[in-house]
Amino acid sequence: MNPNYSELRNGYLESIQKGMQTVRTLSGTISRGNGTKEERLKRLLEEIETAQAIVIGAGAGLSTSAGLTYSGEKFDQYFGDFSNRYGIRDMYSGGFYPFPDDETRWAWWSRHIYVNRYVYPPGSVYNTLLDLVKDKDYFVITTNVDHQFQKAGFDKERLFCTQGDYGLWQCSRPCHQRTYDNKGTVVKMLLSQGFAIGENSELIAPVMEDGKTDYASLSMKVPSGLVPYCPVCGEPMTMNLRSDDTFVEDESWHKASAAYAQFLQSHQDQHVLYLELGVGANTPVIIKYPFWHETLHNDKALYACLNLGEAFCPKEIEEKSICIDGDIADCFEE
Ligand SMILES: [Zn+2]
Repeated sequence: MNPNYSELRNGYLESIQKGMQTVRTLSGTISRGNGTKEERLKRLLEEIETAQAIVIGAGAGLSTSAGLTYSGEKFDQYFGDFSNRYGIRDMYSGGFYPFPDDETRWAWWSRHIYVNRYVYPPGSVYNTLLDLVKDKDYFVITTNVDHQFQKAGFDKERLFCTQGDYGLWQCSRPCHQRTYDNKGTVVKMLLSQGFAIGENSELIAPVMEDGKTDYASLSMKVPSGLVPYCPVCGEPMTMNLRSDDTFVEDESWHKASAAYAQFLQSHQDQHVLYLELGVGANTPVIIKYPFWHETLHNDKALYACLNLGEAFCPKEIEEKSICIDGDIADCFEE
């Protein structure tokens, strides 16, 4: 690690450790909260208005609510050839597919990166969220890697994207702790396959008379000259996404991690709303458990959990929690 970072606090690890410690002390009984949905939404709105600070924790459910889905129409439109040849059913599983060569792998990944990271989402839930909190003292921690908070205009000084970014590459070894913007190369890769880029950054596939994608005129490989290699050691580049201990935590990551620790600490005795949006129950350690920890240890804190199908809290903080089961965009509408 770059020695410059060693003096910074690591809010990522600190908060995970605190959350894990706290969860071990809980009874394991969960609560789904009290009151009607209308009452809960009203209480949430009051809390957003009155809280001295808001910590937003966002998971995949928020981007799903914005219409960024890994299967369905968008998949059929841009990945039908990969689906036919390799039996890949959705974008998520395609990310793990052992493609036969780098040229094919990057053809897949350039499409995957672009439609998740560089196009605008169909829904406006991120913009609505910003409208709700923009005049507040807020901070965002997210496991999402699709850059939607930045695109909606959230202050990047108040944002910590813990798991990487589709828009960044890193050395696969990695031989050094830096990341590289990939947009220019990704666009070249797409053009080389027969796609076009529209005026509003949309990805345009060639179509047949019936409007369906004309896969016969698309290539499933990029030219070898576009396969990215590390500028330092020459090994292949890879996505800057946390999957194992080769994930590069670059300078911006460390600064954001320290800013998160600082934000939590400086508000730890205040009226803070921990607003959890679309965080799955199967990956609770990064956001959910730390939010429970902070709520449990601060009399003035409140925990809100908006989730479609998985809105719950530990019994111990039931009185300080607002659990709302539903689509996040719909909840904001209401
Ligand atoms: Zn390298």
